[in-house]
Amino acid sequence: MAQVSLANIKKHYGSVELFDDLHLDIASGEFVVFVGPSGSGKSTLLRMIAGLEAVTDGVIEIDGKDVTYDEPSDRGIAMVFQNYALYPHMNVYGNIAFNLRLAKMPKDKVHERVMDAARILRLEELLERSPAQLSGGQRQRVAIGRAIVRKPKVFLFDEPLSNLDASLRTQMRLEIETLHRELGATMIYVTHDQTEAMTLADRIVALDYGEIQQLGEPDELYSTPNNAFVAGFIGSPKINFLQASVVEVTGHSVVVSVTGTPNERVVLRASGLHVGEKIQLGIRPEEFQLATGSSPAGVLIKGHVQTADRLGNITYAYIDAALDSLLTVQTFAHRKIKTGTEVILTVPPVRIDVFNSKGIRCSPAK
Ligand code: ADP
Ligand code: MG
Repeated sequence: MAQVSLANIKKHYGSVELFDDLHLDIASGEFVVFVGPSGSGKSTLLRMIAGLEAVTDGVIEIDGKDVTYDEPSDRGIAMVFQNYALYPHMNVYGNIAFNLRLAKMPKDKVHERVMDAARILRLEELLERSPAQLSGGQRQRVAIGRAIVRKPKVFLFDEPLSNLDASLRTQMRLEIETLHRELGATMIYVTHDQTEAMTLADRIVALDYGEIQQLGEPDELYSTPNNAFVAGFIGSPKINFLQASVVEVTGHSVVVSVTGTPNERVVLRASGLHVGEKIQLGIRPEEFQLATGSSPAGVLIKGHVQTADRLGNITYAYIDAALDSLLTVQTFAHRKIKTGTEVILTVPPVRIDVFNSKGIRCSPAK
């Protein structure tokens, strides 16, 4: 277990500045997930912590020790990659033992650690097999075993489940969660998959183009996204964005007109906006209510059901309201939802996220 601290981190590739003055403190035993789209800098950040990539400037500390210029092997870390990088000519036992043997650890101690890892990862029956005789999930467990036996202070994972099919990914996610609980180790995990981030993380670092967009607990990013990027990235199905413009500003509230619904004026709590400003309203699919009465409160949108995904327990209806894109609505009213059904949607104003013309949140926490 160890804390990891990054201070004033810069990373340039030639003339391209990827990170400029990044700060991040990870607590001992914490599970932190770096999430963001492809190319946002997740792997680079992880590889700088691992020592596989040099920083341009700044300081990296692990367990209070400056490791900025230390070799990867001197940092007390172990890394698990997307492609398992197993030695094909060695059996599972040999793969897990490899680094310990290389470090000339006594044979009985190697054996103890390999068997320990095999037990934790349920690989005991597979120790004699070669990687070619394993499924994808089993190979990834071997790769994790190889990391566990080194008893690292910090585990680093770079998209470890991306090569697995969906059901196996869910299963491995639960295993990694259990592993974290059992070992109590600090873990840093990179993924582009927001579901993995939401389910695994104590805290999420949402990255875009080398900048931390938000750092917080999963619920926080979901319910109070700092900006339109985080709102759009976290959550599945995605949040709906409505275009709007500010008509009136009074104290901490604004009157807005929702584009495409010309008669609709809505009063929202938001600050720092000016009259005429083009803004975006973020509305999660579960925040819409299918109205039945007349003139309900909240943003009122009329449309019809274009299509619906019925998942058994819930239905996602895709509503054509003649806006830029279809609106996604989560509903339990399965029977009422048919293609072509006319619907009225309302949203309590306090459940709406307001983002200014730069995409920055300007409504209070929900
Ligand atoms: P992610 O893991 O989030 O997909 P990366 O950290 O791999 O992103 O890459 C972040 C950005 O840095 C990308 O735009 C990528 O093209 C650039 N980059 C990564 N490695 C190099 C390199 N060795 N030389 C130049 N640019 C690089
Ligand atoms: Mg990557």
